[in-house]
Amino acid sequence: MSVLVDYSDDPSVAIPLSSEMIERLRRLAQSYPKTVGTALLDRSMYHGQLLSKFGRLKDAVDWLEGLGAKYHGLASTDAEIGQWYIELLLDLAHMLKDQGAMEKARVVLRRATETGSMHPNIGLVLSCVAKSHEADIVACLGDSSPALNLSTDCLSLALQFYPLHDINIALLQHQHSQLVAVNEIYEEALSNAKDSATIMLNYITDDPAKLDRYRYHWLSEFWRVWASCLSDTNGPAPALILAGQGAKEANRVKAALRKNLYLCKISESYLGLALWTLGSIQLFSRNTDDAQKSLEEAKELWKARVEVRRFDLRNFALTLWALGFTYCLLGRHDDGASVHQELKKMINGLIYAEPTMHRVVKVALDQERRRPSWALFLEKVREELQCKHLMDVVPNAKIE
Ligand SMILES: [Zn+2]
Repeated sequence: MSVLVDYSDDPSVAIPLSSEMIERLRRLAQSYPKTVGTALLDRSMYHGQLLSKFGRLKDAVDWLEGLGAKYHGLASTDAEIGQWYIELLLDLAHMLKDQGAMEKARVVLRRATETGSMHPNIGLVLSCVAKSHEADIVACLGDSSPALNLSTDCLSLALQFYPLHDINIALLQHQHSQLVAVNEIYEEALSNAKDSATIMLNYITDDPAKLDRYRYHWLSEFWRVWASCLSDTNGPAPALILAGQGAKEANRVKAALRKNLYLCKISESYLGLALWTLGSIQLFSRNTDDAQKSLEEAKELWKARVEVRRFDLRNFALTLWALGFTYCLLGRHDDGASVHQELKKMINGLIYAEPTMHRVVKVALDQERRRPSWALFLEKVREELQCKHLMDVVPNAKIE
């Protein structure tokens, strides 16, 4: 039954079956609470992921919120349930962020941090992970300096455990490198990105079996962020190979996961990010034809996702921004103009309808064009292109 639930791509089969499994486990758990309890909790959490996988993000959020409310009390006294509860909250926060409900996600992450502090033996590193996600949200909303402080605190706390929890620490440091970069401290961002990728790569080289399906996703991210930091400090040429590796890894993950739609949906966003970074670095290195291919592929991915996952509007915007310049460099000014028009229209459409996402998109574009890679590139194309529609969005011009 669980195979049918996990691998079916038909929601009318998988969702009722999943509900039935939970019901059966619930009945069994009344007689055998110790042996069945964990399976019931895991299945229940998975039901939320299942709803999300089929695009029912709102139902998934409602389900996980209900489940969380039910076990909130037990989570503070029972360490095992506490750990499960934190993982549930991390999932829930992720889904809320996907919806663009950044403030709600932040509240949930704080609850995860609090729960972690109640179980120091198992929960401390997990609560650091929650705090680091919170730092990411704070940065997305534009408060880059408080975000960096928050991230610095939790990274130094988690580092006390090293080499225990090495993968969680690598993830924290990886996240940290991005916050250092948005604070415009590029050399330090690079060294954090490199160190975290090295921990991750050593971990996998030691024993490839350790790379379970969840951690798979992260590999492309480590390459991508390292590439992007390297491009800011050493120029695009040395970053190209790393960025290509990121995209290759992301494609491999997507292919490996195509049977599991939930993970496949997650892997799409990593692939989109990998292609966007690769496309941007190809653009900076003037491999414009390749940049066009990468960015168009990323654009299609984001376009399909943003209807349900509103946070991806941010990634969609960044991709459109880079794609517009690519078209213009290829002499396709009409296409360049229309892509940037599409970007402006999207931003304007968010002002009243989704003010939080409006802010997130504007902050992302602003952070992006401050990066040395972009600043240098824009300086060059300004002389070269002289097209008016681009000058419209080139530095210092505010996108309202
Ligand atoms: Zn143009």
